[in-house]
Amino acid sequence: MEVVLGKIICSGTVNLKCNECDATIKQDAALLNWEVEDSERGEMDTRLWHGSEELTLACPECNNDIGIRFTLIEYPEGVQEGELSSEVNGGELIGELDYQIIVEEPPENKEQKFS
Ligand SMILES: [Zn+2]
Repeated sequence: MEVVLGKIICSGTVNLKCNECDATIKQDAALLNWEVEDSERGEMDTRLWHGSEELTLACPECNNDIGIRFTLIEYPEGVQEGELSSEVNGGELIGELDYQIIVEEPPENKEQKFS
């Protein structure tokens, strides 16, 4: 059985600038769909590569497609290793993404606490 070690929760908005017409596009950051793309056993814990599924938005002004995707590494559990990285196609990211790593306890640990 696979245990989910971490989950990325985003809040606030992702602000993007369209490269074609300079319009600003605001997107609810909670719509970013994160998944664990890779994992590797490290000395202390499992190192996880989290990535958000590429979100494609159409510019409301010129209909240009803007794609955005974020990636980060979690190691050890609940701790971010290095920087959050973003890949934007057709636009530019403005400001910062508001996010946090949520640690979910494996079910067996929860059972122990209640017994
Ligand atoms: Zn545009």
